[in-house]
Amino acid sequence: MGKYVLKCLKCGRENDKRSLVCENGCDSLLRTEYEKKHFLPNGDGLFKYIDWLPCEGKVPTKIGPVVYKAEKLGEKLGLKELFCSFNGYWPEKNAENMTGTFKDYEALPTIIKLAESGKRRIILASAGNTARAFAYATTQFDFETFIVMPESMLERLWVPTKDAKGKIRVIAVRDSHDYFKAIQISDNFSREYGIEPEGGARNTARRDGMGTVMLEGAKTIGHLPDHYFQAVGSGTGGIAAYEAALRLMGDKKFDGQPIPRLHLAQNYPFAPIYRAWKENMVIRPDQDLEKQLKDIAEVFAEVLANRNPPYNIKGGVRDVLDATNGDVYLINNKEAVKAAELFESTEGIDITPASAVCFASLIAAAALGKVCKNETVLLNITGGGIKRIKEDFQCVNLRPDTYVDASGRIISGGI
Ligand SMILES: *Cc1c(COP(=O)(O)O)cnc(C)c1O
Ligand SMILES: [Zn+2]
Repeated sequence: MGKYVLKCLKCGRENDKRSLVCENGCDSLLRTEYEKKHFLPNGDGLFKYIDWLPCEGKVPTKIGPVVYKAEKLGEKLGLKELFCSFNGYWPEKNAENMTGTFKDYEALPTIIKLAESGKRRIILASAGNTARAFAYATTQFDFETFIVMPESMLERLWVPTKDAKGKIRVIAVRDSHDYFKAIQISDNFSREYGIEPEGGARNTARRDGMGTVMLEGAKTIGHLPDHYFQAVGSGTGGIAAYEAALRLMGDKKFDGQPIPRLHLAQNYPFAPIYRAWKENMVIRPDQDLEKQLKDIAEVFAEVLANRNPPYNIKGGVRDVLDATNGDVYLINNKEAVKAAELFESTEGIDITPASAVCFASLIAAAALGKVCKNETVLLNITGGGIKRIKEDFQCVNLRPDTYVDASGRIISGGI
């Protein structure tokens, strides 16, 4: 079978490893099934989990998940077994994600996997963090990455180095503050110019990369956590955490332990996953667009504002919430800002707005008694230490090569 197979969750077909969708046309995610079933981390950084990443090769890197027991934070919340997964830059804790978020775990395996199948170009849409992660990874490989981003978000597109091996091409969407628009334009350019799409939630290198957070949690804690907290826009990280937990349970060491309960958080007022889960609302990315864009403009954690999360698809967000008896939280900006301040003053490191939303959801859950004093909690701080990166490195802002309008028509530059 080779290192792994790529199976459709609906029909069971083993798909070509480059596929993002089932070749039988199923409305389902594909999932990797690895030949090795034992949990045997080996080495440092992300690639200590190479057995459960869908690429053959690895590169030396300090990027990778870090988990520590957060005693002081736990005390404040009345939790005895609070573990923080810090997925950013915090050298004192050996956290060295060079672009400051867990998107760094996605970029490396995705690029390596594509290069292994002879591809040299990728195109993706981003609200900032994915773009930075891929831009930085591209500086290390002979590879070309096309990034589609709303113009208003470009200030977030920097890399902590001046040297670049690969080529980064930035396509800015004029007069847009909407990440979903950027996704549609990226999809169109992918088809039109034959550039490999990154794939979002369908990209198993993305999911298995993000899933290393759960693996590192189990490694540090010694068992599966009872609860997993994460802020979500697409929910891909939540799906990834669930899949990683399943993989761990395939090893005797973790067999029979309860599946971690997923606690996902969104930022009021834009919260399609929350409304779908709590209020049975159907997610319609193009309905009442003006209202949606108005709500998006109000959220503190913009990376969470995805109009089209993979909710109903087989293996998607709804399925993993069902499978783990999960819950979804709605956090307003004020709660998030307060949570960020508490985290920074207690731990001594800055966290990104999405992480603040996540931490606020844990504060709410603890207050509501949804997590108990002695239960083990894995808190996914999906990004942090950006202030520190800017102190420690000279960051270079990337400028657009091409401008397009909101319908994707090229205004200046080329592809
Ligand atoms: C992308 C991102 C999220 C949301 O991740 P999904 O699981 O894809 O919804 C949360 N926090 C940060 C810092 C991110 O970059
Ligand atoms: Zn199928």
